[in-house]
Amino acid sequence: MAGSKTLTIIKPGAVTNEYIGPILARINEAGFHIAAMRLLRLNLTQAKNFYAVHKEKPFYESLISFMTSGPVVVAILEKKDAVKEYRKLIGHTDPNKAQPGTIRRMFAESMERNAVHGSDSDANAEIECDFFFSKSERFSNFDPVHF
Ligand code: UDP
Ligand code: MG
Repeated sequence: MAGSKTLTIIKPGAVTNEYIGPILARINEAGFHIAAMRLLRLNLTQAKNFYAVHKEKPFYESLISFMTSGPVVVAILEKKDAVKEYRKLIGHTDPNKAQPGTIRRMFAESMERNAVHGSDSDANAEIECDFFFSKSERFSNFDPVHF
């Protein structure tokens, strides 16, 4: 269903700090359905492709090095207006500017090590979900054949 899903990554750092459980709890409490999920370590090629839009930015090399430094959790989250609702839940890219109670405010260590990724548009959510998950790995609430 259009506009109903977003991709999140619980980044290295948050995983190392044992925040997978607390972050997933915040996600569920906010009314998101977890439609797909996997623990994995991004290789260099995957990280570079995933963040290709930032390749000219001064933080790109450091970001790629961080994102490949340890395991991450990737997940497809479902809710009405998922992209917008999830960005509201995670807060500003810079945790110092994120509202109290947001995931980044609670769990980020810095602007780079900001705990989670969230897609920034419906079009990018589609691309990012396809980057990690085949159709058979998705268990959508909008597709009750799975339940
Ligand atoms: N980032 C960084 N320094 C910056 C801006 C971004 O290290 O000045 C990192 C940060 O981890 C961020 C990611 O690059 O989450 C992607 O940046 P983007 O602008 O897309 O922010 P987001 O969409 O994640 O809020
Ligand atoms: Mg972004």
